[in-house]
Parts: sequence; C-alpha cells; structure tokens
Amino acid sequence: MNLRIPGPTPCPPQVLEAMRKQMIDHRGKEFGQIMLQITARLKEFYQTKGDVLILTGSGTGSMEAAVANTLSPGDKVLSICNGTFGERFADIAETFGASVTRLRFELGKGAELAVVRKALEADPSIQAVTITHNETSTGVTNDLESLSAVVKGFDKFLMVDAISSMGCIKLPMDAWGCDVVLSGSQKGWMVPPGLAFVGLSQRAWDAVAKAKMPRFYWDFKKAKSNAEKGQTPWTPAVPIFYALAVSLELMAQEGLPNILARHERVGKAAREGAKSLGLTLFADERYASNTVTAINTPAGVDVDKLLAILRDEYDTILASSRGEMEVFRIGHLGFVTEEDIEKVIEALQLALMSMGVITCST
Ligand SMILES: *Cc1c(COP(=O)(O)O)cnc(C)c1O
Repeated sequence: MNLRIPGPTPCPPQVLEAMRKQMIDHRGKEFGQIMLQITARLKEFYQTKGDVLILTGSGTGSMEAAVANTLSPGDKVLSICNGTFGERFADIAETFGASVTRLRFELGKGAELAVVRKALEADPSIQAVTITHNETSTGVTNDLESLSAVVKGFDKFLMVDAISSMGCIKLPMDAWGCDVVLSGSQKGWMVPPGLAFVGLSQRAWDAVAKAKMPRFYWDFKKAKSNAEKGQTPWTPAVPIFYALAVSLELMAQEGLPNILARHERVGKAAREGAKSLGLTLFADERYASNTVTAINTPAGVDVDKLLAILRDEYDTILASSRGEMEVFRIGHLGFVTEEDIEKVIEALQLALMSMGVITCST
C-alpha cells in the first residue's frame, strides 16, 4: 500500500519492529536513557539550545499546550491564518480566553510580510503571534524566516505550528527567533501518531512563568522537571518512544541537510508529476510545500470517486480536502522517496484515464 497522506505517514520496518518490545517501567533507568537520548536528538533537528519537551498526545495537543502555558486570558494574539490549521491555532487561543485577531490571507497564498507588519503597527497591544509554518490544508509553506524577522522587529512572542514541517523543511528554531515550535510524531518523523514535541526558547519560559491560563495535563513546568530526571509527568506512549529512538537514529544517519534535500526532490516530483497529467496546483508555486501538495480537483470529477479508485484499484491512499477547497492532497513527508511519488503519479494517471478525465499518457 502506498500511503501518501500528510500523516500518519508510513514507518520504516526497523521502526515498526522496535515497537514489538515488551513494556518497561516508565520511571526506570532504561526509559530514562531513551528519553534523554531522544530529547538530545530532537534538539539537534530543531537546531535549538533551548528545550524540546515530548508530550504524549497528537499535534493539536501541543497547540493547546502552547497556548495554555504561555498566555493569560485577555492577552492579545494575532493569528496568521491561511488555511485550516492556522484557524485551529486561533480557535484554541480563543477557547482559552485570549483576545484573538485573525489576519487572513487568500487560501493557497503565503502570508504577506507587509500586511503582517501593518497589523502589528496598527495594534501595539498585541502580545503574541501564531503562525502555521507549513499549512497542510493548502500545501503552502509560509516564509517563516522573513515573517519571524518582522514579528521580532516588533518584539512579539512567536508561536509556530511546525507540525508538518519540522524535520523535513528548513526551520532552525533559534536562528529564526521562534519562541515556541510544535511538531507531531506521525508527520515527518517516520513514527506512528502519539507524541508531540514542543521547542521552547528562554523567552517562552519567561512567558510560562507569567501565564495564567489553566493547565494541568499539559503543564510545561511539570514536563520539564520530569524530563530532567528522564521521565514524563504522566504515563507516556512507551512504544512510540521505542519507535522514535530508532527513527531518530535513521534520521541522524541520513543527516538533516540530506533529509531537507530529499523533501525538496519529492516535493518537486509531486508538483511536476501532477502538472504532467494536466492537473493544476492549488498553492502559489512560490510557496509550494515540500511535504504536501494540494491538487485542484479537475472540473466535473467526483473527488471521492477518484480517491476510492486510487485506493481500491491502485493501492494508493491520498488525502481529501480539509476545508472548503476543492482539492485532493498528496502527502510526501518522512519515509518517502521520489520513486514512491512516481508511483502515485502513475496511479493517478491510470485512475484519471479510467474515469475518462484524461485520454492518453503525456
Ligand atoms: C497534522 C497537523 C496538525 C494537527 O495535528 P494532529 O496530530 O492531527 O492533532 C496541526 N497543524 C498542522 C500544520 C498539521 O499538519
């Protein structure tokens, strides 16, 4: 089966094998060693001297945790939104009592620097900014390096959803001045769902000390004091820790520059492949993501039928739309090669031919 959705992503056989191991005491020495080793490796991929906390939960849990640990009710937040996940960050902040202003950009386009600058100029009382690095719903990667420079020019607190980009698309957390950076195990990390990661700058810890939103399960201070002992405050998803230890070893062997280059190649293969079939891309190509490609559903095509044919006849699983965009999506992150994407394009061609959408190979 060619599972090509933007998470959960396929896992290498060694990673699956690692999860067959018996459970261990999560307060014992062996778990502590795994925890310390994984944390050190994650910090290398985050390129941070700050902390990276490992939470048991999905990516959204880390978004909620980031909000609840660093903000107080009534805090003014500017949420940069250009898709479903940007909106989710804003929804969470609002749910916890922040005063959220949504700065929306056209779907499929990147967030514009000048517009962000203007919004920050217009309201000096804004304390924090949320942004989605890689908007998985539209296949757009925002220019985080430049956006962060703008946000930092106004000395604001910056929270980044990097759930579908960290470890696949360049994001040196410290060099780019990000305060909170989130990711999730089932995206680029080649392990099953179950863990979320939170990178925190010193400024983030200062915010944690002052923040008054309620939190218990996701309390970062508890997570940090436990992590120092090689533990987690609550029972962790132990098998995913086994898996992550192995996948991080594989990732370290490949090396971050090679991993980033591989994602550039597969991203390009997905885009060029789709276009070679006469399909059009949803995202502005200047912002095209190297981990997920959203393809416009051709006029008159029943997208559910297309995805069903791909699944039932070509063993290829692609993702449907998240939101009102008329698209389907190819996930190409984590355990993926150009050959995997070539197979997707082949399957897509055959499926579209069988539906009478295209007639011959181009
Ligand atoms: C997948 C994803 C999330 C949500 O993560 P879950 O693990 O499904 O909770 C949030 N943001 C982005 C950008 C994502 O790709």
